[in-house]
Amino acid sequence: MRIKADFDLCESNAVCVGMAPDVFDLDDDDYLVILKEEVPVEREEELRQVVASCPKSALSLE
Ligand code: SF4
Repeated sequence: MRIKADFDLCESNAVCVGMAPDVFDLDDDDYLVILKEEVPVEREEELRQVVASCPKSALSLE
């Protein structure tokens, strides 16, 4: 499973960064960076919650 981001929807509010800082980051221009696109099985539930918590619905799992 991989994390996808819709960069047109993301407003760089860093909710995902706060919940999983090893997976998400903001670059120097405040654009979202996904540090680890591949989701290990043991973190699927955790990252589903992060995806569901994005206030702009900019994240998805596929
Ligand atoms: S929580 Fe959503 S809107 Fe906020 S930085 Fe992450 S992807 Fe972007």
